[in-house]
Amino acid sequence: MPRRIFGTSQLAGRTLEVASTTDIILRPGEVILTFDDGPRPGKTPKILDALDMYGVKGTFLMLGSAAKANPALAQEVARRGHSVGSHTFDHTNLANLSRQAALDEIARGEAAVAEALGGAGRLAPFFRFPYLAQTGFLRTSLLHGDMVVLDVDIDSKDYYKDSAQTVANRTLDRLEARGSGIILFHDIHQRTVELLPGFLAELEARGYSVVRLAPKADGVFGRSVITADASSL
Ligand SMILES: [Zn+2]
Repeated sequence: MPRRIFGTSQLAGRTLEVASTTDIILRPGEVILTFDDGPRPGKTPKILDALDMYGVKGTFLMLGSAAKANPALAQEVARRGHSVGSHTFDHTNLANLSRQAALDEIARGEAAVAEALGGAGRLAPFFRFPYLAQTGFLRTSLLHGDMVVLDVDIDSKDYYKDSAQTVANRTLDRLEARGSGIILFHDIHQRTVELLPGFLAELEARGYSVVRLAPKADGVFGRSVITADASSL
């Protein structure tokens, strides 16, 4: 792992404040780092350390169940300046549920992450579909409900049983082909912990910048969790 001094990184980019999915427009060379399915003891703290080493911020799409089980860790992610969104309560494939059951599952996840955060930080209205399995109805409902649906431009596939180096190389190759994008990682895998410092070093060497994604300051603050009634939509 490269040893670095705080504040020397050229990798930290601008902060992009968004109120809707369509606000997420990246310039060439810009990436957004997202970490799904945590927080996970033993993994998430090391991910945070790697991000700190380069002074960059990520977006953590937490499961309600994981945040509920590890509230101190969820709070640490927020305290260290990262954005925290949600990813359902239990990683359910929402495309297999009824409309109302799917909305309920999303709301349950949001509520659990918000509760786990306590006063440490507020939950961003960022959401990612488990398995990227969405329906037109759900996506439309969320967008109308002031949620920011986070799509994936570059899937690291860090959940495959590949070596850390293979995952890093694959992700860099896809990024090079695309030039910018939202990268999907998971802060629950050892290979992701292992690859991240070197991956960030390579991003810096290649001149990329990591954009900090944040919710727009006004408008969404105090927003309640989803209460949409599927039968009325
Ligand atoms: Zn997931």
